[in-house]
Formats: sequence, structure tokens, C-alpha cells
Amino acid sequence: MNRFSKFSTDELLAEIARRRNISVSLRPILKCEYCKHFKPSEKPDDTYNPCAMGRKMEFRMPEGPTDRDGDWGFYLRCCPDRVSIAEL
Ligand code: SF4
Repeated sequence: MNRFSKFSTDELLAEIARRRNISVSLRPILKCEYCKHFKPSEKPDDTYNPCAMGRKMEFRMPEGPTDRDGDWGFYLRCCPDRVSIAEL
């Protein structure tokens, strides 16, 4: 008998999900503006998506009007299409 046999499958899955969420929240957020596929527009409209690959990104808001250097902007925590402009 192994030490996990006393737990149900649902309990084990819940623990795995809990640990995964903690590790994701601790990972640094990689902003999209440093990706080759990020295409900002001068005239964004309702269909505007700055990701040339069509990925649905998250957006972190600035802290306030003076937050010019803050960690805000488009991001996607895990993107298989990311190509860092530093790698070009
Ligand atoms: S990281 Fe992904 S979502 Fe962000 S611009 Fe690049 S391809 Fe698009």
C-alpha cells in the first residue's frame, strides 16, 4: 500500500490543482510587448488584437496615471507561440 492510497482521486486532483495554481502565481509574468508577434496599432478598434497569432491575452492595468514604468500591459502566462525579440 502506498502513502497516497488513503486519499480519493478527487482529493489528489484537488491537491495537484492547488499546487499548480500556487506555482503559476509565483512565476514571473512575461509581457507580450517583448514578443515578435506583438503588433501594436496606432488606431485600435473593437476588433483590435495586438497578438498577430490571434491569442487572447490578459491585460494588467496601471496603478494610476503616474504609473509609467509599472509592470502593466498585455501578457499571457503560458504561450506556445512566444518568440522573444531578445532571441532574434
Ligand atoms: S506572447 Fe503569445 S499572446 Fe503574446 S504576443 Fe506573443 S504570441 Fe501573442
